[in-house]
Amino acid sequence: MNDLNNGKERICIVGAGLVGSLLSIVLGQRGYQVDLIEKRCDMRKEDIPGGRTIAMSLSQRGFKALEIVGLKDYIKQHTVPKTSRMVHLKDGSVQVQDYGRNGQAIHTINRKFINSALLDKAEATGNVTTLFDSHCVQFDLDKLEVEILNKQTGKCHFRTYDRIIGADGVFSKVANEMAKQEGANFERFSPEYGYKELVIPTDSENNWKLNNNVVHVWPQGHFNLVALPNTNKTFTCTLFLKLNGEISLNTLNDHKLIANFFNKHFPDVSNLIPDYCEQFMENPVSKIYSLKCSPWHYRNKVLLIGDACHAIAPFFAMGMNVGFEDCSVFDGLMSKFDEDLDVVFETFSRTRKVDTDAIADMSLYNFTSLGNSDNSNYHVKWQINRMLWNKLNDDWMPLYPMIAFSDIPLAEVRRRSVLQAYIVDKIIKEEHTIEMTDKWMDYIYAKYIRSEINGKQALSKDVLEA
Ligand SMILES: Cc1cc2nc3c(=O)[nH]c(=O)nc-3n(C[C@H](O)[C@H](O)[C@H](O)COP(=O)(O)OP(=O)(O)OC[C@H]3O[C@@H](n4cnc5c(N)ncnc54)[C@H](O)[C@@H]3O)c2cc1C
Repeated sequence: MNDLNNGKERICIVGAGLVGSLLSIVLGQRGYQVDLIEKRCDMRKEDIPGGRTIAMSLSQRGFKALEIVGLKDYIKQHTVPKTSRMVHLKDGSVQVQDYGRNGQAIHTINRKFINSALLDKAEATGNVTTLFDSHCVQFDLDKLEVEILNKQTGKCHFRTYDRIIGADGVFSKVANEMAKQEGANFERFSPEYGYKELVIPTDSENNWKLNNNVVHVWPQGHFNLVALPNTNKTFTCTLFLKLNGEISLNTLNDHKLIANFFNKHFPDVSNLIPDYCEQFMENPVSKIYSLKCSPWHYRNKVLLIGDACHAIAPFFAMGMNVGFEDCSVFDGLMSKFDEDLDVVFETFSRTRKVDTDAIADMSLYNFTSLGNSDNSNYHVKWQINRMLWNKLNDDWMPLYPMIAFSDIPLAEVRRRSVLQAYIVDKIIKEEHTIEMTDKWMDYIYAKYIRSEINGKQALSKDVLEA
């Protein structure tokens, strides 16, 4: 098979979602013959099937990968930048918390738009063949054979490849197949939370109803409402709530209960979404899944990527960004190992997981953090963190900017954030107010920070367990 393709291998990517499509460009641009196989219809020709979030936040890790394939500027032009989080407090006032500094922003992009742009670019390489309505129903991972059901004709056929890459999302069939191998670890979680999306329409003059340069958050402790601006001047509003229990997505099932719930917890909503009860009844409840598994490769010939091996809860809005970062890491390994794909598959599988495990843990933590973003302790910590960032620059970067605006490996982000949280807690415990922190910065730096951060010491066990 190699001889037919100028010595380049023939690769099957299962799943033409965000990550599979991007990886197909990386491989197509390097001259590999790629079949990109998708069970759904071609979203460029028909409506995207329901239940998928339409407004996605794109940040540095995602943009970096898009830059590699030459799509960064084009995609950026079609985004809405958001510089801050606007927290809507229970008394009706708002608190603005900047994500970064000097205008740093995360960007909202429409899922269908970006996925379509990736598919166009993949086909434009001349090396990627897209197959839609094509469901990969069986795999023989030893023979590298895929059985594909054509959903239009109802007929199955088999194709054999040099390699198979599973980019088929959290319910990955490729991952399920790999989980059968001896020594494989596989855990798919369905946390108790789900979500429902509502749309805030434009106002009567076809304008935004809320500030469109921020992400709006209505925190309620263990449930939250979040609104992201869309390019068409609407907002996608997502309610994250338990699936079952007294107040839950499954019990909010008639107009009266829904109206009572929103009037009590989110009184702003009735003005913003006149038909919120109707939308709530009509729109589906979606579950939140996460997945951890290992290894991500089989015989150095089969590989998993994106949600297929590390789906995470969406509370940092980072799943796509991390999946895109997978593609830039993969591309870096291709260059480093001179396209020796056996080595690339094995190294990617062995070295990348530590970072995706870290963001999975941090995402769950962020749900609690979002829910508490209206309390004063949270705000004090936020301000002290910012102050330290301004004074100490590279020696101190708060958690969110490290995730959204840097390339720092995610396991290192987690390590630093634990240490920083420990230091901020200590500063607050010793009753330093924000003003005192500012005034006594040199003292605080010498006492708490220099040895830990500047000395580049590993975080000691004592500190972690304190
Ligand atoms: C509520 C919510 C909000 C989110 N918001 C953000 C955000 O703002 N920013 C962000 O970075 N991330 C966000 N995410 C995460 C993001 O959606 C995912 O991480 C991302 O979609 C993963 O891309 P993927 O290509 O790996 O998987 P998917 O997008 O799931 O794509 C997998 C593809 O494979 C296809 N497929 C599956 N099985 C087969 C098969 N057997 N044969 C052929 N095709 C198959 C599927 O049809 C699908 O098209 C959010 C997630 C949720 C749930």
